Amino acid sequence: MQIRKLPPQLVNQIAAGEVIERPASIVKELVENSFDASASQINIDIEQGGISLIRVRDNGCGIDKDDLPLALSRHATSKITSLCDLESVTSMGFRGEALPSISAVAKLTLISRVLNSECAWRVVADGNESEFSFSPDSLPAGTTVEVRDLFYNIPARRKFLRTERTEFSHLENLVKRMALSRFDVGFSMAHNQRQIIDSKAGIADENESKRIEWVCGSPFLQNAIRIDDEASGLKLFGWVGAPTFSRSQGDMQYFYVNRRLVKDKLISHAVRQAYQDVLFHGRHPVFILFLELDACLVDVNAHPAKLEVRFRDSRSIHGFLSKTLQKVLRSARPGGQSIVETDHNSAPPHQEMPSASTAYQPTRPATQPSLPLRLKEQIESYELLSKEPGPGSSPKGSNQNTTQDEIPPLGYAIAHLHNIYILAESERGLILVDAHAAHERITYEKLKRQFAQGEVPSQPLLLPLRIQVSSVEAQIVDDVRDQLLNLGLEIDRSGVDTLVLRAVPAQIAGVDGERLVRDVLADLKAIGSSSHIEEKINEMLSSVACHGSIRAHRALSQSEMNALLREMEATQNSGQCNHGRPTWVELSAKELDAFFMRGQ
Ligand code: ADP
Ligand code: MG
Repeated sequence: MQIRKLPPQLVNQIAAGEVIERPASIVKELVENSFDASASQINIDIEQGGISLIRVRDNGCGIDKDDLPLALSRHATSKITSLCDLESVTSMGFRGEALPSISAVAKLTLISRVLNSECAWRVVADGNESEFSFSPDSLPAGTTVEVRDLFYNIPARRKFLRTERTEFSHLENLVKRMALSRFDVGFSMAHNQRQIIDSKAGIADENESKRIEWVCGSPFLQNAIRIDDEASGLKLFGWVGAPTFSRSQGDMQYFYVNRRLVKDKLISHAVRQAYQDVLFHGRHPVFILFLELDACLVDVNAHPAKLEVRFRDSRSIHGFLSKTLQKVLRSARPGGQSIVETDHNSAPPHQEMPSASTAYQPTRPATQPSLPLRLKEQIESYELLSKEPGPGSSPKGSNQNTTQDEIPPLGYAIAHLHNIYILAESERGLILVDAHAAHERITYEKLKRQFAQGEVPSQPLLLPLRIQVSSVEAQIVDDVRDQLLNLGLEIDRSGVDTLVLRAVPAQIAGVDGERLVRDVLADLKAIGSSSHIEEKINEMLSSVACHGSIRAHRALSQSEMNALLREMEATQNSGQCNHGRPTWVELSAKELDAFFMRGQ
């Protein structure tokens, strides 16, 4: 068969296949161009979901008349000039493909004016890159790109477009995502001549909050923890939702690398890992996160639509992300801010949750000497209750901070409702605690700590138990004998296919030993990586903690309840039980007043 060179329009149509999937993808490219042109205001007009018209107007640097044909030609860009530039791209674009690709699949008009020029120039393109006709125009400085009749010349692609509503919802979503990446740029958008967005530029807190509210809804900030952390040239900042403020979909997750919107497996994995221990099963966390690093440490040329990136040192990025997020999430407990552990040389994250209606209180309430129900905790009685021998975090530690004049964040217990919920009076209002859920998390965190220190106490069986297994299984047990011992499980191999169980973790002394061994074996067989082993171990510790914790309907004395509250304040992750359910809520005096319509 004869080999032929393809005409430019077809080449551009092929290129468009990779980046222009729907109206939203065009808006992405055009807005990125406006960002690169240092625009401070971007106005978007959409007709019929973007299928009949997309118009993006900016007040950026504009394009010189002589450069207009180049802007519409393939592989022509003002953003990079060499391989060296490509290796440390700081602009959003660099491929020089967007405008010619768009012009090959839709009717494109480009109108641009650089500052101090006599007039603007308008040029129409059809992807052929041959002759361009110019006409003067009166637009002010900046650039306007008009895209009409998407896929008018490619009926097969047009068929794949969804309804106007669906396309617009994709498009709006995209604009929101982009607006979040640049608080310093104002955005306005109209659909079918109806204004739907007008979000002012501004990096002041108030503007930031308004924009976040617009994109994520107002409850987000009330339930989010602020992050701002830096370590070895990596900077992570933004907001993460409290684990109890999760969603059934992963639709409220915004991650930007050097302000570029990305969807990256490595990042998702690191975030998932950070939330793994605190999120309710099947739920998705909510976050707006910005990672900033030296441009040469990340390759943005990994995907035509530039939605994926490649990190030069992905392991350290993964480690930094999951560690930083974990640290911040752990601090999400009553009074957590004051006991954040810093495990690398960085400043403790700032936790900020303005609303009283959330599950967490960021700051210790200020001193208030006269609370009617002043009690002195008797930690010993709580320790008896939790039957938990050995070291670990003693609640005395937190208790010591609580001087006579200081009211602890969770206040003091006043009643045990239905023998399930602890009612406590705090400085701000009423606290409700699910005693079982809270105790379960406290026990779990203690077990994890003990396990990490190889201190899970074990209890020897009166009669060692012989268990028949396969030779492969016996070998597996042989290989991890010491790890199992750390778990309080003492198992020896007594033959090719025989194990002897000698001791079990003291917390689950009454357990069906054979079943436990078989379950652990099944896990060990199925699991390859060590992080999985840790997860499984955590799962097991979690179930141990669940069984070993206060049952609902068991009456607690006031001193036991107070001791539990103090222990919650001292325990990381204590805002959620092991399964990610919340352990406590606060009803502030203000909310109670509003409910009873006091002072209205
Ligand atoms: P890329 O962004 O990868 O360079 P594009 O096809 O998107 O490629 O744009 C081609 C060129 O047109 C850009 O390099 C830039 O110089 C110019 N350009 C496009 N849009 C704008 C704009 N809104 N303002 C100023 N210049 C623009
Ligand atoms: Mg571009």
